[in-house]
Formats: sequence, structure tokens, C-alpha cells
Amino acid sequence: MTEERRLTVLGATGSIGRSTLDILRHTETPVRVVALTGRDNVDALAAAAREFRAEIAVTADPARLDDLREALAGSGVEAAAGHEAVIEAASRPADWTMAAIVGSAGLAPTLAAARQGGVVALANKECLVSAGDLFLAEIARAGATLLPVDSEHNAIFQALDRDNRAALDRILLTASGGPFRDWPLARMAAATPEQAVAHPNWDMGAKISIDSATMFNKALEMIEAKHLFDVAPEQIEVVVHPQSVVHSMVGYADGSVLAQLGAPDMRHAIGYALHWPERRALPVERLDFARLARLDFEAPDETRFPALRLAREAMAAGGLAGAAFNAAKEAALEAFMARRIAFLDMAATVEATLERLAPFGPATSLEAVFEVDAEARRIADALIAAGEVGKGAVPA
Ligand code: NAD
Ligand code: MG
Repeated sequence: MTEERRLTVLGATGSIGRSTLDILRHTETPVRVVALTGRDNVDALAAAAREFRAEIAVTADPARLDDLREALAGSGVEAAAGHEAVIEAASRPADWTMAAIVGSAGLAPTLAAARQGGVVALANKECLVSAGDLFLAEIARAGATLLPVDSEHNAIFQALDRDNRAALDRILLTASGGPFRDWPLARMAAATPEQAVAHPNWDMGAKISIDSATMFNKALEMIEAKHLFDVAPEQIEVVVHPQSVVHSMVGYADGSVLAQLGAPDMRHAIGYALHWPERRALPVERLDFARLARLDFEAPDETRFPALRLAREAMAAGGLAGAAFNAAKEAALEAFMARRIAFLDMAATVEATLERLAPFGPATSLEAVFEVDAEARRIADALIAAGEVGKGAVPA
């Protein structure tokens, strides 16, 4: 009989969080849910906390505490609210934590989870982009196990030949190309948030879907891969693969390329991380190669998708450039979602913000990371407000 495992899901109401709960419904591993956290969707959070008999449910929004308490009335589940409460819940002893809060808001809670020394199943890529060195140092200090859940990095983790680590030559990150893969630049310039959010293959949260449309998602993933797999930026290649069946690949010195394939369903990577180092049955579709018939690959177009070049520039600058890159991207994304700037202005905002902020010091403390994060948001917002980026037409 397998021992009961104590689990926490940070960001339980999001796309990854819901898929995680679905895996927990199906797994044969006996689990006990410690904490579930969310922010806006308090009813869904309370319903999940009741279903899984969580010890505590936390909304990141302090104004929603009464709503959460009401939704949990009589359930015996503790209710709490606010950023600090999310961090406190993340620090409650758990064997396995799903880190699926979106954006840099996930950094402090994920660090708190890492400090317990259990398994951190990492969906929140922003942690590694903003504070990779610090985060990995904390993981090592705590003796925690970091398992990548981002599908590309999970694929690379699976395709790593650990006995021949020195022979690793390159990482090939596959990218779907998003909804605008074959759109001409002029059409992209007028793209609306509704068009950008409609991803062809993956069902994801709104922000990461728009990041896929700009390929900022892949840009973040390049930086994420650099930290996770300790490779040089030149060893990271991006290849557009519209079917999203090859989740990523690792190339070796002898010319071999090992790939991990599967249906585009995040429950694969989540279930892999839950059961690792074992492999157990998962409720995901089996690939039917005869029906697939073909897999296509093409080089990314960096004129239409400058995010990839900007990621390489941020990696070359190093240190706090990653935190600035992510924060400027988050500010630009919010401005686009609010229709204050046009689609292509997102990359322009990030580029202009990085230019203003350079050169970057080393990421020696979390305070330094949060300081650069705030400064990058301030600069990006000021550039947008002054119309210095955002000359493109904003679609109605
Ligand atoms: P989502 O927007 O669907 O869910 C985000 C979760 O974070 C929700 O539970 C929300 O309530 C919570 N949240 C939002 N703002 C918060 C705040 N300020 N403080 C605390 N909690 C907050 O996002 P998602 O698509 O599930 O993505 C989650 C993370 O996983 C992101 O970092 C994303 O890049 C990464 N990821 C997602 C996918 C995917 O398929 N969705 C794939 C790979 C990686
Ligand atoms: Mg990914």
C-alpha cells in the first residue's frame, strides 16, 4: 500500500489547477489535500476545497474573504485571504506542491513551497525567468525536488540521457506558433485580445494564450530552459511545430535527437510529475499515428515574433534582466488586454523598457528582483501612457 501523500495546489482554480484536480480525481495514489489557493473564482475554490476536504482554502484577494467564508460555511475547511495567507498556506508541510499561480505573483508562494524540501511541480515559469538562480539555490538548499510541468520542459526532462549529460548538445523547444502563425504582419497589427486568446491546440489561461500568440510564451520558456537544464543560450533552439504533438526534443553530440510525444493535454505533464519517478496510467488520449499522418516543422519568423530575439538579449544581459523582461511583458500584456496598446506594441514595450533599464545587476536577493519587477512595470506603463509605444492602431 502506497503511503498517503500530502498535496497542495497553488492556483487551483486556473487551467493548470483544474487539470491537476482532475488528475487527483483519477489517481490511485492516496492523497490528502492540504491547501488550495485561487483568487477571483471563490465559488470554484470553495467547491474544490469541499470536494477534496482541504485543510485550508485561500483567496489571494483580501476583499473576497467574506465570500469565501460564506461558500465554505459548515464544511470544516479553514478560509483565509491575501498574498501573505497564500504564502502561509504554501509553507504548510506538503510532500508535493503544484505551483500554478500565473505571473510573478507566484514567486513568493512557490519559494515558500520549495523551502519545505518536498516536490515542487512547477508550472509557473515566471519563477525561473524572474529569479532563476535564487530559486534554484533555494531548491538545492532545501533539498527539494523540482519537476517541470511546462509541457516542453517536462518533455526535455523525460528525454534527458542522465548518464551522458556531457553529450547534451542542444535543446529543441517546440512551439505551436499560436493563432497568428501564418498571419501577415499587417493583420497581426490589428489583432484583438479575443483573437489572440484563441489558441489552436492548447486550452490554457488567458494570459499564457496571448503569450503564445506573441511567442512571448516561448521566449519565457527559452529562459526557463536555460535555468532548468543549465545550458548556454546558444544551445537553445526554437522550432515551430503546429500540431503540438512533439512536446520538445534533446539533441546529443552523436547527432541523435530524443523527443517526447503525446496529445496536447497538460494532464500528461501534471500526472507525470505526480507519479514520478514511476509512470502510471493517465486519462489522456493515446496518439494514433495513422490518423496524425504528418508532423510539420518550420523555423520561427523573428520579424513577426521579436519576442524570441528579446529573450536571447535578456539571457545575454543576465542577472536581473529576466525579472525586467517578465515584468515588462506582464505590464504590456495587461495594457493589450485593456485595449490600451495594439498587439505588436507588446514586444515594442518590452524592448523599450529593457533599453531604459539596462545595464542589469546580478539577482542577489528577492528584494532586488521585486524592485526591478516594480521598476520595469512603472517604466512600461509610463511608456504606454506617454504614447511612446502604442502608436499602432488599437482594435476596438
Ligand atoms: P490561469 O490564469 O488559468 O490560472 C491562474 C491561477 O492563479 C488561478 O488559480 C488564479 O486564481 C491564480 N492567480 C491569479 N492571480 C493571482 C495572484 N495575484 N495571486 C495569487 N493567485 C493568483 O493560468 P494557467 O494557464 O493555469 O497558468 C498557470 C501557470 O502555469 C502560468 O505560470 C503559466 O505560464 C503556466 N503554464 C500553463 C500552461 C497551460 O496549459 N495553461 C502550460 C504551461 C505552463
Ligand atoms: Mg509550454
